[in-house]
Amino acid sequence: MSSEIPQLHIFFFPFMAHGHMIPIADMAKLFGTRGVKTSLITTPSNAPLFSKTIQRSKDLGIQMDLKIIKFPYVEAGLPEGCENVDTITTGVTTTSKDMAIKFLKATAMLKEPLEQLLRECKPDCLVADVFFPWTTDAAAKFGIPRLVFHGMNFFSLCTTACMTIYEPHKQVSSDAEPFVVPGLPGDIKLTRKQLPDFMKSNEETDFTKMLKDSKEAELNSYGVVVNSFYELEPAYADYYRNVLGRRAWHIGPLSLCNRNVEDMAFRGKQASIDENECLKWLNSKKPNSVVYICFGSVANFNSDQLMEIAMGLEASEQEFIWVVRKDKKDQEEKEDWLPEGFEKRMEGKGLIIRGWAPQVLILEHEAVGGFVTHCGWNSTLEGVAAGVSMVAWPISAEQFYNEKLVTQVLKIGVSVGVQQWSRPVELVRDFVKRDAIEKAVKEVMVGDRAEEMRSRAKELGEMARRAVEKEGSSYSDFNALIEELSLRRN
Ligand code: UDP
Repeated sequence: MSSEIPQLHIFFFPFMAHGHMIPIADMAKLFGTRGVKTSLITTPSNAPLFSKTIQRSKDLGIQMDLKIIKFPYVEAGLPEGCENVDTITTGVTTTSKDMAIKFLKATAMLKEPLEQLLRECKPDCLVADVFFPWTTDAAAKFGIPRLVFHGMNFFSLCTTACMTIYEPHKQVSSDAEPFVVPGLPGDIKLTRKQLPDFMKSNEETDFTKMLKDSKEAELNSYGVVVNSFYELEPAYADYYRNVLGRRAWHIGPLSLCNRNVEDMAFRGKQASIDENECLKWLNSKKPNSVVYICFGSVANFNSDQLMEIAMGLEASEQEFIWVVRKDKKDQEEKEDWLPEGFEKRMEGKGLIIRGWAPQVLILEHEAVGGFVTHCGWNSTLEGVAAGVSMVAWPISAEQFYNEKLVTQVLKIGVSVGVQQWSRPVELVRDFVKRDAIEKAVKEVMVGDRAEEMRSRAKELGEMARRAVEKEGSSYSDFNALIEELSLRRN
């Protein structure tokens, strides 16, 4: 960046869930590497999740700090330390839903401490999560522009908008009857079953109210930053800007700002496996021979489904790394989710990571050729950037939309066949049988079709890299944003 441009100071305020905190931390790092002073805002229990990023950035001479605001769990009626969506879901109790509502209420109480920070520091811009609609007004009070971070791609942003405008799900006679999303390029089909519960109900809840507020706040905000790159979804990037009329900057894939082993290994949480041990295991495998299975940071399967995954994997005869979200309490108990003698039989062939995996490090390894994913956007884009083909196993949020992007638009993956959307903090509702798992894994790992998908995926991976390099589409859009913010300040 030109030295004539005065240094900008930008605040980044992610929702307290790994799928939001990880890309926003990467984003802050990206802004930092391009000469911007950055501050991440979070709460006490979440602070340690950023400390490594801050430390690494400092080592690299990037100006980044952490601003901590108190999380009102007592006022919201939440247990102490319940400051991350993670702490709601790992319990998987019947009270999860109730806690999720309280959690949302607690985040709205962060307005005052945020305003205090804005008053004190007067940053040049606030990048705040879509789940904090009140931040647009809070920033406006001090003349600060707010940028929205959705954590979604253009395709899903457009699908969401078209679904809201045209409501095609209200025209079908059953939950299983497919309909085309009107207006959206590409003849994309969905069913009512694959839609979030709140879209199908007319009842106003705290969550739907927040979504409504978010939409309004977005229209009043400075614009939207998107973790994607133009070449991945040009029709949808254009539709979002030109047809829906939104101001947006694409600056991804954000995960690509992590170029060395240490940065790739530590994202979000401390991994449950030593990165060198993981690399050693992968180094012993042939290129494209390993399938990686991970369902993100929120999804929770019951033991029967985990058992079915194990049997499907064994039957597929592929080498694998499988991440299972099981906390310590479960580890001490008998593991009723694995077939008898499974790990012994799979020794050398399959690796189970209990807890948190160094996902980007694994995906970027040449031994990995396929990814069974829940289609969370971060994971999906990390898979795209790594050039791997995918088995799409959507569960919640906008993941069914991402499934269509992967399988129908990009054609770099196959569906495992899930039909039913599940609520984010509850147990997964749908059940996938071992045969379907075996078939889908084989389809992305072996045969001519697998080769075709892989070569398309590799091409997209190259495009992703080019997009973030000098003169690339994301690099240029990022520059345009910085220039605009700088001019605004002068
Ligand atoms: N992740 C990880 N290790 C894990 C599980 C998840 O590093 O064991 C990271 C993953 O790389 C991604 C994020 O957590 O950056 C998950 O975000 P995503 O949007 O894919 O799904 P969510 O967790 O929000 O459902």
